[in-house]
Amino acid sequence: MSIPVSVEDEHVIVEYRGSIIRVQKVNGLYKCPYCDSLFFSERDLFRHILAHATRTLTARREPSSRWH
Ligand SMILES: [Zn+2]
Repeated sequence: MSIPVSVEDEHVIVEYRGSIIRVQKVNGLYKCPYCDSLFFSERDLFRHILAHATRTLTARREPSSRWH
């Protein structure tokens, strides 16, 4: 007997260039902990998070819709 795991609550630990963060996965996509954007790969997510760190996203306040 197996209990189905809710994908809404799935979290994974991802590492990129020495930085380790805990992120939520939604239907197989990585969710940005800052603005809830979704990404297909860890690499894309970290590139996005780095943009947060350098404030290029927060400064421009772009809508989070680039993942489609
Ligand atoms: Zn974000």
